[in-house]
Amino acid sequence: MHTKLDPWSSSDITDYSKLFEEFGISPFENLLPEIPSPHTYMRRRVIFGHRDYEQIAEAMRSGAPFSVMDGFMPSGKVHLGHKMVMDQIIWHQERGASAFVGIADREAFSVRGFSWQKCREIGVEEYILSLIALGFKPDGLIYFQSGCKSVKDLAFELGVKVNFSELSAIYGFSGETNLSHMLSVATQAADILQPQLDEFGGTKPVVVPVGPDQDPHLRLTRGLAGKMNMFRIEERETSEGWKYLSIRGKGAPKEALQELKKRIPGKVKLYEEHIDVLQTPDSAFLERFGLQISQPEKRKYFMTQIQEIAKFANEAKPPEFSEYEKYFVFRKIWKTTRKVLEEIVAEVAAEFGSYAFMPPASTYHRFMSGLQGGKMSSSAPDSYIALTDDPKEGAKKVKKAKTGGCVTLEEQKKLGGKPDECSVFELMLFHLLEKDEELLEIRQECISGTRMCGSCKQLAAEKMYEFLKDHQEKRELAREQLNEYNIVYKN
Ligand code: SF4
Repeated sequence: MHTKLDPWSSSDITDYSKLFEEFGISPFENLLPEIPSPHTYMRRRVIFGHRDYEQIAEAMRSGAPFSVMDGFMPSGKVHLGHKMVMDQIIWHQERGASAFVGIADREAFSVRGFSWQKCREIGVEEYILSLIALGFKPDGLIYFQSGCKSVKDLAFELGVKVNFSELSAIYGFSGETNLSHMLSVATQAADILQPQLDEFGGTKPVVVPVGPDQDPHLRLTRGLAGKMNMFRIEERETSEGWKYLSIRGKGAPKEALQELKKRIPGKVKLYEEHIDVLQTPDSAFLERFGLQISQPEKRKYFMTQIQEIAKFANEAKPPEFSEYEKYFVFRKIWKTTRKVLEEIVAEVAAEFGSYAFMPPASTYHRFMSGLQGGKMSSSAPDSYIALTDDPKEGAKKVKKAKTGGCVTLEEQKKLGGKPDECSVFELMLFHLLEKDEELLEIRQECISGTRMCGSCKQLAAEKMYEFLKDHQEKRELAREQLNEYNIVYKN
């Protein structure tokens, strides 16, 4: 049987796939068709998982507001691992996201014991210059946590909703953990939720591109988002097995619940502390049948139209309307219904002075391995390439890197190499080769034993030299442009 050659497969992904079951991270691959011109990291499965990225893909397609947010702890040299995050921030910014980049100086201060001055120097000199050099646009916000009042205020408020037991369960904090370290965790949650504050346009999907080690922050923040809201939307089921959505508002003012009832189209029941939404319509569903209603009128007409189509969907027989289509259509109604409800709930919550955070979305990318195998480590400069390395030095590191080749040329010709265990191939896959076909060809040649490691190293070293040289020139330009950027420093 012919085995399809897959250029992006990697044994690592098998390990990462455990995360899907353990933490409820969804495979990214299934989403690819929904993303307009996916990023190289997406196509090459460097990004392997996500939470709730559907809402980001949808916002990109429809032009709805969304944000990308990420943070960097000013700890040392900016390297290719940071570049991966920066690339993703910039890619989302280019696709319409309002972009937020936090320099986590509170974390560096509390965990590393760095002075504020040192945090600022590293923050600008390493991270901000490279971010701008890679293409970050001036309409994004860059801030040092210690200078950002809205983040600090929100962190304090979030602190009410999380206690020591939860933090120790998530982060392994002990009695020895200092208070500022704990506060820096709340600050990171505030970083992630900040784009949804009123001053930044309110409730909207926010994506945080991370490596899987950062997932605890995402889990904590997603939980906190729900706890801070006046309302929460739950899926429930009647005794007859009919699913419906229920908006729970424990402690919410009665007037807020009444207001919600007024605004939600469809069949809605108001109770003491919650509202059950038994049926409500969906515009995407209508569009599928060529029925379009303009935005302001959308909610008003939802109900009647959707009922008519649902009736059609229920009564239509195959092949006119297959079971599969019916299933698909109802799933779609469900999803969009929830989205419409989230919008209404956010509006009402804001009017009654509450937050209405959506849980942040996230993407998960594979880690780069160390150039000598194993992990990259800041204490072993040969294990990684810093974006500020002398280009000649960077090229040299590539030439010394561990490959997936055999010990002798004869063996390699006979047995082939292992590109999935090769840090030189990884550099080309992640950073150095733009064309998928070229990479695929190298992979095939490697596996079949017609390519030797020397030629890969030569190619990758040349590309690395060019990249670093160009990047460092752009960093110098960025230095001159710093004033054009919206950067919030510690006062
Ligand atoms: S031939 Fe190239 S891809 Fe294959 S193991 Fe050697 S360096 Fe890596």
